[in-house]
Amino acid sequence: MNKRPPSVDSLLRDAAMAAPIAAHGLEVVKGRIRALQAEMRAAGELPTWVSDRSEWATRIEHALDATHGTGLTPVFNLTGTLIHTNLGRALLSPQLITAALSAATHPVALEYDVEEGHRGDRDRLVEPMLCALTGAEAATVVNNNAAAVLLVLNTLARDREVPVSRGELIEIGGSFRMPDIIERAGCRIREVGTTNRTHPRDYAETIGELTGVLLKVHPSNYRIEGFTREVDTPQLAAIAKQHTLPLIVDLGSGALLDLERFALPHEPTPRETLAQGADIVTFSGDKLLGAVQAGLIVGRRDLVERIRRNPLKRALRTDKITLAVLRETLKLYQEPERAVREIPTLRALAEPTERVAARATALADALRARLSADFVVSVIKSMCQVGSGALPGTVVPSAAVSVAAAHDKQLRQLAERMRALPVPVLGRIHDGVLLLDLRATADVEPLLANLARLESP
Ligand SMILES: *Cc1c(COP(=O)(O)O)cnc(C)c1O
Repeated sequence: MNKRPPSVDSLLRDAAMAAPIAAHGLEVVKGRIRALQAEMRAAGELPTWVSDRSEWATRIEHALDATHGTGLTPVFNLTGTLIHTNLGRALLSPQLITAALSAATHPVALEYDVEEGHRGDRDRLVEPMLCALTGAEAATVVNNNAAAVLLVLNTLARDREVPVSRGELIEIGGSFRMPDIIERAGCRIREVGTTNRTHPRDYAETIGELTGVLLKVHPSNYRIEGFTREVDTPQLAAIAKQHTLPLIVDLGSGALLDLERFALPHEPTPRETLAQGADIVTFSGDKLLGAVQAGLIVGRRDLVERIRRNPLKRALRTDKITLAVLRETLKLYQEPERAVREIPTLRALAEPTERVAARATALADALRARLSADFVVSVIKSMCQVGSGALPGTVVPSAAVSVAAAHDKQLRQLAERMRALPVPVLGRIHDGVLLLDLRATADVEPLLANLARLESP
C-alpha cells in the first residue's frame, strides 16, 4: 500500500460525517470507520475512492443503516393495519404528549402526597379513573399486558395449576406465547377441552386441589369458526364461584368504549367482563385504548392489593411518562364524545369512509403525476384491519390507492422506492397491485410533500 486512508480524526471532523454521527452517534461511527480501515489493510489495497471524504460518509451511513437500522424513523402507515405492532401501535395526540412532556421535564408528585408531605403511591394517578370507567373496586398498572398476566398469575397461582381452554392457548405475536408466560409465572397449565370446543364440564373435571385460579384468554388475534363451543365468562364465573377460585380474564385489547358505536362488532369491555363475574381483568394500554404501552389490571380490591405487594410489581412497574399519558387518556374517556374526537386511534376508527376516500383521491392524483404510463393508479374501496390482536377477522371499510404495473418487477421497485423516500411510505402488495390504505394517515399533505422525490421505476 503506497497510500494510507485518511485518519479517523480527520474523517470525524469532516462536515460530511455530521449526518451519520447525528443518526448513529460518535462512538458507533468511529467504530465503523476503524472497521472499514481494517478491512482495507486486510485486503492489502485501497479502493479508488479512499481520499473522497463524502464517499466515506455515505458508505459509513449506509453500512450503519443496514446493520443497526435507522432508529425510530417516522414512516407513513399505509399498510391497511390501523394499530400496527411493528409500527409502534397507538398514536398519541399533541395534547397527550404535553402531559408526558411536563412529567418528563419536571419533578412530579409521582409517589408523593403533596398535601400530607410524605410518600404516596403511583397507582393513585390512574386508579380512581380506571375504577370509574370499569366499575372495578381497585386497579393497578404495569409495563404491558403480558406483564399484567405474568404478575396476576404469579401472585394468585404460583406453584398451582391453571386450567385454560386449548382454544385459548394463543401466541401473542413476536413468537411469544401465552403458555410460556403462564409457566414463567410459576404456574402449571392444565389444558382444558379441545381447540374448537370446550364445555363447562371440561373445567369441572380439571379443577382439583391444586388449582389456583381459572384463566380465560380473549382470543383477540384469531377466530375459531364453524363447529365451536366456548365457555363464556358468566359460565366460567359460575364455575369459579362454585370452587371459590378467582376468575382472571385477559381481554387483550380491552376497548373501554362499546365499539358498536363505530359500526364494529362488539368487543367485550372490562366493565361488562367484571359485571359478568370476572375477579380480575387485564388489558393493554396501546391497543384499542389508544394510549401508551401499559398493562392494566382491574378488579377485586383484596386481589389487587395482593398483586400490588408482589415484589415482581416493582420489576414491572410503569414510569411517570406512561402514567402521565394514561391519566390524560383516561380523563378523555370519561366524556366519550371527546374521547372519539381526541384519541387518534378512536378518531381513525370513527372517521367516515368518504373522508378517507378524499385523501386517497389526493394521493392518487399525486402518484399519477409522478409515475410513468406503465402504472395504472386508481382509488378503490378497501378493508382495513384493526390489528394488534384487536377484533380478529373484523375489517373496517376504508379507501386505498391501488397501483398496478405493467410488470411485477416494476411494482416491487415502486414499493422499494416508496420505502426509500425521506419518510418511508409503507403499503402492501396484494393480488398483484400495490395497495396504499389511507385510514391510518389522518393528514395527507405531508404525505404528498414527501412524494416530491419519488421517481417512477
Ligand atoms: C396483545 C395481547 C397480550 C399482550 O399484550 P401486550 O400489551 O402487547 O403485552 C396478551 N393477551 C392478549 C389476549 C392479547 O391480545
